Amino acid sequence: METKLIIEKGRKGQMGIGLPPMDVPEKSIATLIPTELIRDKAPALPEVSEPELVRHYINLSTKNHHVDKNLYPLGSCTMKYNPKINDWTAAHLMLATAHPHQPEIASQQQLRLYYELEQMLCNITGMNRFTLQPAAGSQGELVGVMVMRKYHELKGNHKTTILIPDAAHGTNPASVAMAGYNVVEVKSSSNGLVDIDDFKSKINDEVAGFMLTNPNTLGLFEDNLSILADLIHGVDGLMYMDGANMNALLGLVKPAELGFDITHINLHKTFSTPHGGGGPGAGPIGVVEKLANYLPIPRIDKVNDAYTLNVDLPHSIGRLSAFYGNFGVLVRAWTYIRTLGAEGLVDTSKNAIINANYLMAKLTTRYDIGYEHACMHEFVLSAQKEKEKGIKALDIAKRLLDYGYHSPTMYFPLIVKEALMIEPTENETKETLDDFIDVMFKILDEIDDNPEIVKNAPYTTPIRRVDETVANRQLNTHWNVNEF
Ligand SMILES: *Cc1c(COP(=O)(O)O)cnc(C)c1O
Repeated sequence: METKLIIEKGRKGQMGIGLPPMDVPEKSIATLIPTELIRDKAPALPEVSEPELVRHYINLSTKNHHVDKNLYPLGSCTMKYNPKINDWTAAHLMLATAHPHQPEIASQQQLRLYYELEQMLCNITGMNRFTLQPAAGSQGELVGVMVMRKYHELKGNHKTTILIPDAAHGTNPASVAMAGYNVVEVKSSSNGLVDIDDFKSKINDEVAGFMLTNPNTLGLFEDNLSILADLIHGVDGLMYMDGANMNALLGLVKPAELGFDITHINLHKTFSTPHGGGGPGAGPIGVVEKLANYLPIPRIDKVNDAYTLNVDLPHSIGRLSAFYGNFGVLVRAWTYIRTLGAEGLVDTSKNAIINANYLMAKLTTRYDIGYEHACMHEFVLSAQKEKEKGIKALDIAKRLLDYGYHSPTMYFPLIVKEALMIEPTENETKETLDDFIDVMFKILDEIDDNPEIVKNAPYTTPIRRVDETVANRQLNTHWNVNEF
């Protein structure tokens, strides 16, 4: 009797979403569940009122920094504002309650969304086909390199290595190694771009491909791309673009037209999905026509106006996961692209570039920069000069928290000493950027006048400086209510 009442209450509460009431015969529960597993007492669930619950989550949400609070200039991560309409679409009943085991005929609208998003990404990148399945940029890289491997295997090529610049994101060499290739590092020249002589010296018949972030992690656009692509294609290698930082290129440049054969893009960066704290994400990859049949199954095809899940691709690298990717993220990206339209996307990239260059021009009047160059979406300062006064990049980053800003990315790329990698994104107004600049200069004044205040920052956060070595070695992932 008790069980039945609880179920009925729950169903009534959900009436608004239009599901038919569930007919659960009282008896069947008792017969289906072994008696030793049936509770004799109701579980001790916390009893809280709605306002208490709302306050709890609102308070929690303000303990950490996030894009809805203020600028989050975390270079390479593209922490842009996530329009609330994206969440509204993702919560749409038909999309949010879709089940991956739903038959194709009942999933036409979801499949259509996949198909349209793929088409839009093809349009943006110039690629021939996309798969939306990878759940992160790094997983996209792995899939991309597996596609590369398939290409070489089917052609009977003997390939063992992939070239990667020394400025690359750490996931690049990791993905290459996971896919079974050796990494060969290519040096950056004094202007922060691929050193063409070093690159040439590393080209040989065993090179399977070249994986390049563009714009690179210094925020610079590679200017020798056609030479690099010719050299790689000359040994039947493939050009892979790490397009996680596509934010500077939308509607301006298409990776396929630059000579790339494969690219992944991070929907959770460029196409706005909340991704602080490591998730959720989506790292779709696009490929040129000659690689299209190697993409993972199922592939979404459109046959006679119906969308189908095509598993009949004998040369596919196979299944990547049980289902079809991180659907909620895909819905958000679809909404974002449709909201902005082609012109809006171009403006996004232009504004991202203008904001980064404005900030760089102002900040470099007092800070040193790793590599001087007009930048794309981000740039990398060096706090080496400040380190000589006893203040590390880390200290500056911590002090920024007291002024209400998130830290830039620190100590990356590795080729810049005491790196502070700043990406403002297109969202920020000149007023916000000016305020950030004032704060960055104020910290420099503090370093001269009162360095201790910077060394011991932050003062205003719920938890002050953690001992990162201890935190890494003795990871404690338990949550203790008394600590809050
Ligand atoms: C973020 C990023 C990645 C990795 O993407 P994840 O979704 O975090 O796995 C790879 N390369 C570059 C250049 C990036 O900025």
